[in-house]
Amino acid sequence: MAQPAERPPSVDKLARSLAESGLPHPLLVDVAREAIAAGDHNSAADRVADLQRSLLQPVINATGVLLHTNLGRAPWPSSDAGTYRNLELDLATGDRGSRQAHAPSLLAKACGAEAAIVVNNCAAAVMLVLGALAKGRGVAVSRGELVEIGGGFRVPEVMEQSGATLIEVGTTNRTRRADFANAVDDPAHDVALVMQVHQSNYKIVGFTEAPTTAQLSDLDVPLVADIGSGLLDEACPWLSAGPPAWLKDEPAARQTLEAGADLVLFSGDKLLGGPQSGIIAGNAELVAKCARHPLARALRPGGLVLASLQELAMAYLRRDGDAIPFWRMASVPVAELTQRAQKLHDATGSGSKVIDTMSVPGGGTLPSVEFASAGLSYAGNYRDAFRNFSPPIITRVVDDTTVLDLRTVDPDHDELLAEAITTTVIGSLA
Ligand SMILES: *Cc1c(COP(=O)(O)O)cnc(C)c1O
Repeated sequence: MAQPAERPPSVDKLARSLAESGLPHPLLVDVAREAIAAGDHNSAADRVADLQRSLLQPVINATGVLLHTNLGRAPWPSSDAGTYRNLELDLATGDRGSRQAHAPSLLAKACGAEAAIVVNNCAAAVMLVLGALAKGRGVAVSRGELVEIGGGFRVPEVMEQSGATLIEVGTTNRTRRADFANAVDDPAHDVALVMQVHQSNYKIVGFTEAPTTAQLSDLDVPLVADIGSGLLDEACPWLSAGPPAWLKDEPAARQTLEAGADLVLFSGDKLLGGPQSGIIAGNAELVAKCARHPLARALRPGGLVLASLQELAMAYLRRDGDAIPFWRMASVPVAELTQRAQKLHDATGSGSKVIDTMSVPGGGTLPSVEFASAGLSYAGNYRDAFRNFSPPIITRVVDDTTVLDLRTVDPDHDELLAEAITTTVIGSLA
């Protein structure tokens, strides 16, 4: 506690005393001013720590949720920013080129599409497709697929914003090909597209029926499939062990196109494992129509994202799943995780238990899928203490037990984890 007689330091002096934090002086001045205004200049260091915690920064994900929405979904390295790139320069001719010429065409190749373009996320992809191909006209969607995906992506609302008219067909639990055919044949509906939307984050079970992509592929209008998660190929040729069992019903871009969809739309940062982006892939003419629409300019990604997606596409084309953190983490055998947990336990001493646990894909994908994992548990709730470590470690607390799931932790971070355990848990027990 400050003594009443003690004079507070000047704002400037206090701000300078915090310089070691590395934060820019104007921010430290704000902190110093607030601390002095609160009559507690000794709180300045804590306020600096609070400010540092409010910044975007790398964290260690020990939750076992592979695509953690609050942690930016898929972890994927961003390319170096400080360089020029031939973003819109054709190096062969020296003429103006297209930013959609590099990563998008490689992604198209990786999923067997004629062409592709990239926008900022899958919501933007849906918006662009509807605006470019169905504005002022009807789009037929099954009532069972009028979904809300986490974060407020609602099909009817996106449809309204795009200027297309939603034509609802079938019922919530049962929709047949004939329902779509009737809508397409009705001139009053002026249907421009049929759209399938993957029920990414929920399931309708019981008395249900929905037409397959193949069944809808011979209607008289283009078929667009919003598959959501961005699984490129259900055979997973990038995994040496082949497709994992937990993928069983997940629609894949390649097979959806083969089944007759004219376009597939998907996110870049779910099962694709890349940076936030949205991909429109399929029929070259339809893709070109989307690319020419004025909205495409507003929704286009920057060079950082495109460079990073190009690396990702190359990893897929090399069939190198190990180079893609999401697939590497998803495929690690439990025995390996148990071994790491045992090592951590041995290095940090008592207090922990090596446990079997369950990881989930997360990110609004694959509801009800879990896969075996391993890690450490501690009696008591250490969530805040781990989060306040530098770098922050995000954990799961269940029934007053803190769980560190190693499936989502890069093995290179095990040492940091050991250090955090020693200071956080062991420290508090001492
Ligand atoms: C996740 C998802 C979206 C939204 O994707 P964003 O990339 O988050 O915009 C749209 N449609 C489906 C089917 C999804 O699963």
